[in-house]
Amino acid sequence: MDRTMPTEPIAGARAAPPFVGAGEMARLMRELDWSTTPLGPVEAWPEDLRAAVSICLNFRLPFALYWGPKYTMLYNDAFRPQVGDKHPWCLGRPGQEVWPEIWGAIGPMWQNIRETGEGVFFEDSVYFMERHGYLEECYFSFNLSAAWGSGGQVEGLVNFASETTYRVLNERRAACARALLASLAQARTLADVYASAVAALGTDPADVPYAALYQVEGRDRHASGLAPYGPSRGGSAALVDRRARRVGAVGVPDGHPLAPDVVDLRRGRAACARALAAALKSGLPVRAEGPSGATSDLCAGPWPEPVRESWAIPVNPAGGGDTQVILLVGVSPRRAFDDAYREFFEGLGRHIGVALANARAHEDEALRRAKLAEIERAKAAFFDNVSHEFRTPLTLLLGRTEEALAAVPARLEGGDLQSVHRNGLRLLKLVNSLLDLSDLTHAEGAQAEARWVAVELAAETASVVAGFQPAMERAGLTLAVDCPSLGAPVLVDREMWEKILLNLLSNALKYTEAGTVTVSLRADEVSIRLVVRDTGLGIPSTELPRIFDRFHRVAGNRARGQESTGIGLTLVREFAQRLGGGVEVESEVGRGSAFTVSFPRRVAPDGADGHG
Ligand code: ADP
Repeated sequence: MDRTMPTEPIAGARAAPPFVGAGEMARLMRELDWSTTPLGPVEAWPEDLRAAVSICLNFRLPFALYWGPKYTMLYNDAFRPQVGDKHPWCLGRPGQEVWPEIWGAIGPMWQNIRETGEGVFFEDSVYFMERHGYLEECYFSFNLSAAWGSGGQVEGLVNFASETTYRVLNERRAACARALLASLAQARTLADVYASAVAALGTDPADVPYAALYQVEGRDRHASGLAPYGPSRGGSAALVDRRARRVGAVGVPDGHPLAPDVVDLRRGRAACARALAAALKSGLPVRAEGPSGATSDLCAGPWPEPVRESWAIPVNPAGGGDTQVILLVGVSPRRAFDDAYREFFEGLGRHIGVALANARAHEDEALRRAKLAEIERAKAAFFDNVSHEFRTPLTLLLGRTEEALAAVPARLEGGDLQSVHRNGLRLLKLVNSLLDLSDLTHAEGAQAEARWVAVELAAETASVVAGFQPAMERAGLTLAVDCPSLGAPVLVDREMWEKILLNLLSNALKYTEAGTVTVSLRADEVSIRLVVRDTGLGIPSTELPRIFDRFHRVAGNRARGQESTGIGLTLVREFAQRLGGGVEVESEVGRGSAFTVSFPRRVAPDGADGHG
């Protein structure tokens, strides 16, 4: 039989129209007169093309087919966004006609696949496509492979592609924002903020072709709040010299009309002036548009096209307050200014705002400290002067009183005169305390460096201690001096050393009722140790941690004599530290105290006086 067995056709096979489905692309393909395309009428299409088209339409991921020697384009619904404005015009057109702007890059690649049958895979590959009326920076990850025909030859190309532009741009912009944050973190002054901000923005010229920071100067005549300005309010008469000064810029030369050095916010008619003024007024981003439109001749960033669009972004200070800084920033000529782009610019403004608030706080704090230090210095100088001024007449007065006392017969008027003398002495002690306080202020000042001099320390110490002998005797105390020679002179600040001794000894005298005060000085290779020990009242252990604090006095400790200011031990500690050491105390109530001052031994170089 010549009749072949009628086989049951697979449903839809062979006779099936290739454009199945309810999607837009299936409909457009059904409507298109294919006889006007390089593929010719559908009825004449080879089975391979029909099969490929039906796979394409059924695919849920972006899928494009370039068929035949002219790479005639067919694509599915998911691929549509990738062709932009070329849709639906590009359906059924030759590849070279669809993609003239990138044909130089893709033409040879396609040819190679056609010839070798070997496909390619690219990730985040950049193409500059004209899909929306301008040359646009786009990124794609795609798998381009040969579409084999049943005859064993390559009939076309299959492109599975996903556009990664948004991810790539997001990552790049996030990196720029991170660079900005990192460099702003170091900024301590407003000038630092401006400089580090523009430096960081300069790291992403593709998204920030140029940027300029403006600081607003001058205030409106109405004391506070944002200045009313601009023709809309007719309020320009209320403004005085409201200007913005360029305080940092990248990507735009000095004096360029797009971002001038000084902008008159009141009268300026240029795009930049109007945008800055409007952003300042509204606190919102404003597009720069001048009388001559928004175009410019500034070619900034990596692309050859001039910047077409700029925005003024108010840098609102963190925590509220008036906008005083504005970021003027250019938009890439190869990207549309969409929501993501705007959010990126606003984020930059926010970061700079936080840094400005920080820098202002730092600057205020530095100013406050400087003022305080100045007041402290003035106070110390005042104390110093006043105490000295007090001391001279007092000393003269006491001298005269002593002379008079010696001359006047004791039983006659001596009683009154003695009271004058006693009170004069008390006054002198108080004045001396004032001088101590001014010593302390000086000692705590940064400039109180030790003046190192080579000193025979044992002899020096013994001589200062000897000065206390009469007072100790009057108080009924024994003074023991144990200061053997240290062998060689050592470097010390003589005045500080003397003050340490005077304070420790007068405390021992003040707080010891009976017994002995012992002063011993020892040295080894590396250190020197002074111990002043007494058999006096002792100090309760709870008080020990605080007795070196300024103005701290142990409550209830009966001092011999009246004067007690809580400054002496603070001075001892301060001076011991200046000598490179410290002071320690051991004490037991009712048994006595021992103060130990130790500091590193510095040997005088031969013949040197040790200055330095
Ligand atoms: P001042 O003696 O003027 O009060 P200091 O700073 O010299 O100030 O001493 C602080 C406090 O430490 C004193 O008020 C006193 O109570 C206690 N103190 C100091 N030295 C001794 C000592 N040798 N014995 C007992 N208490 C002392």
